[in-house]
Order: sequence, then C-alpha cells, then structure tokens
Amino acid sequence: MAGKPKVAICWLGGCGGCDETVVDMNEVLLGVVNAVDIILWPVALDFKYDHVKNMKNKEIVLSIINGHVRNSEQEEVAKLLREKSRLVLAFGACACFGGTPGMANLTTKEDIFNWVYRDAPTVVNPKGNYPQPKTSVNGKELTLPEFYGQVHALNEVIDVDYYLPGCPPPPYLVMNALSAVLDNKLPPRGATLAPHRALCDTCKRNKTKPERITLQQIKRIHMVEADPETCFLVQGIICLGPATRTGCGESCIEINVPCRGCFGPVEGVADSGAKYISALAAMLDLESEEKIAEVANQVADLTGYLYRFTAPVSTLKAKRV
Ligand code: SF4
Ligand code: SF4
Repeated sequence: MAGKPKVAICWLGGCGGCDETVVDMNEVLLGVVNAVDIILWPVALDFKYDHVKNMKNKEIVLSIINGHVRNSEQEEVAKLLREKSRLVLAFGACACFGGTPGMANLTTKEDIFNWVYRDAPTVVNPKGNYPQPKTSVNGKELTLPEFYGQVHALNEVIDVDYYLPGCPPPPYLVMNALSAVLDNKLPPRGATLAPHRALCDTCKRNKTKPERITLQQIKRIHMVEADPETCFLVQGIICLGPATRTGCGESCIEINVPCRGCFGPVEGVADSGAKYISALAAMLDLESEEKIAEVANQVADLTGYLYRFTAPVSTLKAKRV
C-alpha cells in the first residue's frame, strides 16, 4: 500500500449516518479503497489511535471528520488528526455547523445532566450519582471524557480546510470531494465542496412560486395533505429552501417533506435562521403586530425550526448563563 495517499475517516459526536453515506458509495467505494490507504476508520476497521500518534506530522493526506465536538476525547482526536493531516474536511452538518446535537446549546449542561441522571421519568438513581471525569473505585482512578458546556462545530476547535455539509452528505458529493483531492483539483482553502446556489434554485417546485408569496397563516406539515407538485411556501408550509444551500438532490422535497436546512446557509450568508426570518417576515401579509405574533406562534418552536442544524455557528450560538 506504500505510495498511496493516506486517508483517515473519523467520527466524533454524531449518529453514524455520515459513515453510512461512505458505505452507500457502494462499488465506487472499492475504487476509492484501491486508490487510497485508509489508515483510520473506527466504524469499519480496527486501527488504534496510537497508530496515528506514531505517524509523522502531515503524513495523512486527508482526514474526513464527521460529528461535532462536545467532550475532551472528541477534541483530542480532532487535534491529533489536524496535526497529522495536510487537509481536514469537515464532513456533514454536525462537523460543519454543530448539527442537530447543537440544539442542546439552547439549554445548559447542568439542565441536561439533571434531566438525564435525575428528573427523566425512567431514571432510577437513588444515590444521585452523576458521571464525573475522575472517579475513585477500590483505590483505582477511572476516567471519563469531560463533557463540555456546549456543542462546537469542528472549526471552533481546529483549523478546517474544506466543508461538505448535509445530514448526511450525499455519496456523489463525497466522490467529487475525494476525486478533487486525488486529482489535486481542489478549490481555494475554506471552500464548501457543494453547489453555491440555494435549494430553491434547483427545486422543481420553484416554477409554481409566484413573484411574491403572501402568507396569512402558517400550516404544519402533519396538519395538511401537501400537494406534491406545488412549492411548500405557496401552501403556507415553512420550507427552508430559500436560505439553504443546494446539493442534496432535493431528497426531502422528493418525498413531499419541506427542507429543514441540513446543508446550512447559502454562500455568503453567516446565519441562515436570521436570513430566513427576514424572508418570512416579508411574506406575512398581516396588518397588526398582534396578528403577526399570532401567526408566528403557529410554528411550534420557531428557533428549533430555523436553527435545527446550525445553532452553534449562528449568532445565537449558545444559552448565556
Ligand atoms: S421553498 Fe421549498 S418547495 Fe418551494 S421552491 Fe424552495 S425548496 Fe422548493
Ligand atoms: S431538502 Fe433540506 S433538509 Fe432535506 S436533505 Fe436537502 S438540504 Fe437537507
């Protein structure tokens, strides 16, 4: 295997879906495996972190890192891979933006621990034990990773060279990214390896949108039978397509579910939730502030809807305590 570019694939805080998308490359994956030397892929291969620690700095050509950082072990692995890699790709919504686990930033570490280890109805914890980074058992010290106060996107912890969003990213974009690395045809550092347009630009329902949409009420998807051909917004259903980067193949729209924004903000937009709320405000055709508040309240958990994947990198970032 000497001479092949060394590649690491690693999972920090995530659900495993991003690793699944690599497997979903099917027979294309066999070609990739032939072209590169995979030196770490914990979900599939039994390499140890010590193996990576013993490598030279920058010996790995590309580390593909999925998942957010919420504890000291994840931070340590991210920093190790950064030290040993020429290029780091933040892979998937959690690595790029914090992802759905980033919604936990809207509460505190203390509240999470209290719920999980004390208050949830299924908890049986008569001694009130909470996990600690260090615990002494029979004279021996046991350690657990330290749980941080908030969820971090990968670029809050290490320098990231490229981004590939999605929950998970589709296999064709993974293949494009790997080809760009292998053929040395990468865009400038810091680029997102996905189209630079909004989802609406590629959505086939876009042709059903009038020049100006006006809304007098907001409906939730489970309350209506959505027409499968017509733009969700025209039907009064929130769809984050106008503020979300395209590249997913409109996978949710294709199954008649509105976009939730897993590809993150479109190029040049720092906060997709803020961008969307200003677009939504322009669509509401209501005369009084009370009426606007009433309609806004028809969206259960507006913050959660707008920042489902991006809270840690948004202007909200985390609950202040
Ligand atoms: S708002 Fe949603 S359904 Fe409408 S065109 Fe954009 S992506 Fe398609
Ligand atoms: S439609 Fe939106 S939420 Fe669904 S996969 Fe595409 S970007 Fe993600």
